[in-house]
Amino acid sequence: MQDFEVCIPIPLQIVLDDVGWWSGADDSQQNGPYRTGIKRRHVPADYLAIAELGRRLDMRPQAAMILCEWDRKNILKKVPSATWMGKNWDNSVNIGPQLDEAAEIIRSNSKHFEITLHGLGHEFWHKDGTFSRAEWADEAGLRSEEEIKLHLDYFCRIMEMNGLGGFPKSFVPCAFKYVFGGDNILTRLLRESGIEYVSTSFGCMKTFETPQFKLFGRDDSLFVADRGNEPGVAWYAIGGDAPEKMIEGCICGLHWPNILHENPKRNLEVVERWVKYFKDNNKVFTKILARDTFHHRSQLAYCNLTDLQVNCQTLILDFSRFFKLFDHHFHEGMTLRIKNHKVNAISSSDARLTVQKNEDYNFTAINIIFDDCRQHQVKITLK
Ligand SMILES: [Zn+2]
Repeated sequence: MQDFEVCIPIPLQIVLDDVGWWSGADDSQQNGPYRTGIKRRHVPADYLAIAELGRRLDMRPQAAMILCEWDRKNILKKVPSATWMGKNWDNSVNIGPQLDEAAEIIRSNSKHFEITLHGLGHEFWHKDGTFSRAEWADEAGLRSEEEIKLHLDYFCRIMEMNGLGGFPKSFVPCAFKYVFGGDNILTRLLRESGIEYVSTSFGCMKTFETPQFKLFGRDDSLFVADRGNEPGVAWYAIGGDAPEKMIEGCICGLHWPNILHENPKRNLEVVERWVKYFKDNNKVFTKILARDTFHHRSQLAYCNLTDLQVNCQTLILDFSRFFKLFDHHFHEGMTLRIKNHKVNAISSSDARLTVQKNEDYNFTAINIIFDDCRQHQVKITLK
């Protein structure tokens, strides 16, 4: 008789939007960007708050960045659609030592801070100077190939001029305006730029094809995860309490001010509340905090596409469905959780296992790494 419970937990990734503004002002009523709505300027300590959240949780939150206010040389004059000033773009008010300080925080905390592509100015300013939401697409459809290329290119240039590292691997479309399927130009250009992972609210995206699964889909070679609408904290809510309800989907979508304090010296008090919230989520048997974007991708694929059978003291994992969507295992592997299991020896001759027991939790995690990237079945023996 089986005296234990086993599951492949749903991974949870943390995504923070609209990181990168220096001004906090919401200028949307004056044909400017929404920014973060915080009633002060952003400071390097606001970047430290993200890194601290990641460090305390031993993971790498995605910081979806808007980079126009990092433009040290006013190169965005050449991309009038990217900002509210168009050809007269002048960023001198934001050029100062805080750029170097924040860049250094991002670089030295790269294990706990992932730069995710969000955009240059978040909206798209038309030739007549008015804007529509948002940068990559609006209700009418995607921006032109020429414009998308230009925006991607200048995002890359601003990263380079600030020493922010290589082009991101992940993308959050502004205002979640994304198009899934149909061999569309945005997907193609993102892929060519090196993006592998997209997170967006499936409810806000246009679809030429339906994502294959409720929480994710594969669009060409891009992995697209559903951000849903959790935890439902307003984008402009500064600090405050983390919600009580645990996340049901696979992404906790926040905005930068949600983890900050009006007084930046007190940012870490807010971060502390979110750390507790995410630790509580991670204690839910069927939920696991992802280490990073790629662990999130692999665990999400495995939890949806693995058939798990329990035969007495043997767990049989079958990946036939997985190989219909992917042609090799992800090297990040997958995690199983077991509850109420009294015996300690866990082994497999098919894959490498690492077993983690956490005294705070009443379950054991088994991390599985596949040596054979086409392994169709793995047996795990519990003794
Ligand atoms: Zn945004």
